[in-house]
Amino acid sequence: MLIVSSTLVIQGCISENEKSSQRLHTYFESIRNNEALLTAFFSEMPKGGDLHNHFSGSVYAETYWNYLLRMRPWFDTVTLAFEYDSIKLVNKKGDYRRYKSATQLIAAKKLADIKQRILQAWSVKDYVDLGIPSHKHFFDTFGKLPSGGWKETGVGLQELQYRAARENVQYLELMLRSVPSDKMVTDEAHYTSSLKLVDYSDTVRLHAMLDSLVAAFRSIDLSADVKAFNEKLQAIHNQYVPDNNAVTIRYQTYVNRRNEPVKFFRDLLAAFEAAQTNTLVTGVNILSPEHGDVSMRDYKLHMYMFRYCSQLYNTVKYSMHAGELTLGLVKPEDLTFHIQDAVYIAGANRIGHGVDMAYESDNATLLRHMEEKKIAIEINLYSNEFILQVKEDSHPISLYRKYHVPIVISTDDAGILRSNLVHQYVLLAKRYPQVSYAEIKEYIRNSITYSFIKEAELKQSLQDSLARKTELFEKKILQEQDLLAREFTK
Ligand SMILES: [Zn+2]
Repeated sequence: MLIVSSTLVIQGCISENEKSSQRLHTYFESIRNNEALLTAFFSEMPKGGDLHNHFSGSVYAETYWNYLLRMRPWFDTVTLAFEYDSIKLVNKKGDYRRYKSATQLIAAKKLADIKQRILQAWSVKDYVDLGIPSHKHFFDTFGKLPSGGWKETGVGLQELQYRAARENVQYLELMLRSVPSDKMVTDEAHYTSSLKLVDYSDTVRLHAMLDSLVAAFRSIDLSADVKAFNEKLQAIHNQYVPDNNAVTIRYQTYVNRRNEPVKFFRDLLAAFEAAQTNTLVTGVNILSPEHGDVSMRDYKLHMYMFRYCSQLYNTVKYSMHAGELTLGLVKPEDLTFHIQDAVYIAGANRIGHGVDMAYESDNATLLRHMEEKKIAIEINLYSNEFILQVKEDSHPISLYRKYHVPIVISTDDAGILRSNLVHQYVLLAKRYPQVSYAEIKEYIRNSITYSFIKEAELKQSLQDSLARKTELFEKKILQEQDLLAREFTK
């Protein structure tokens, strides 16, 4: 009897859970076409992690502006450049007359105007085809921001933590910066010309060359720069990210694909070493416009270099921007191999963007491979829309879904794009009615499962707390619906 009644209780619980799931599904479908209701829903919903998040592009332009004002800069009223080093200002010779301090601009009642123009230059604010392509406007902003050093990192970290907590995001994996180094081997030119001549698929020859480069960089103590980077990062993290923080933060370091081969390899070596030796550095990435001249020319070489470094530092995880391309941006044949090279040659653990998937050769095999090896795809809907004009059914999310590739939803550059993670989920729900509420919950769980967090306990505790928070959120949604129903029938 006891066994029978327990079974009945369990059956009762299951049907109660199923009932709740069905009600949530029905409610979600009822708001799917209403952006305001979706925004309210996703603002409250715990969203796990944001795994594709560029630190400098995620901080809003207003924050950089406030930071810059505290440095007492002079602004070039024509080009909107700024300078806070008076010696450098004087060295600009005739041009320095265009530079005005904030005090001078306030007196002339021009500071507000300069601020607006700068916010537009540092982000997509008010962008309406300014006569330059959206991808150029987007990528150019990075060179204009007062970022790149350690000084403003704390300011940015505070903003990103605050926003993540407000948005119910529990984890950020930030692409922070490259390991700074100006160390260079004496025979750089020789290595450069040799690397350009070698057949990369001849891995014996290529690896012999890279072995020699590794030895050369070790002889000039590249590791000292890695150590300095790790120490600085640890200090900044300790200062600005409290232990009991609601938002867990980890970092990726990265390499710039526009750099010439030897410099690229130096930075890659340093990046892998940092990721191997620092718990806070969970992985490595590769970035900068994929369609740039050097990026396209050296694409395969970069893939083989990643493969080499992954064998040298075999515990390091890496996500790779790959296939952030579309028809018209490059030649059609250049759309056919970037994701597969990142997967098959470089051995990427996750792919960032993967927009050109529909154009990749034999993409069915590639997609099956990604599903089988659990290589997650980081989908950045608004970024793809703004930079590449790829959206709705031209976006390959349907292909990734069709083959059950693990999907995570991320922001890319929320600051420059004037967006946030909630916005990405709103676009997902509204544009892709085939993606159910249950599937969206799976994407959110994926954002912790496929994170590169090294500490197994921390990862598990984030999964557990996400499950608890989601349960509370769903209860609240249903209670609110009950309350509204009662009020309506009064
Ligand atoms: Zn990106």
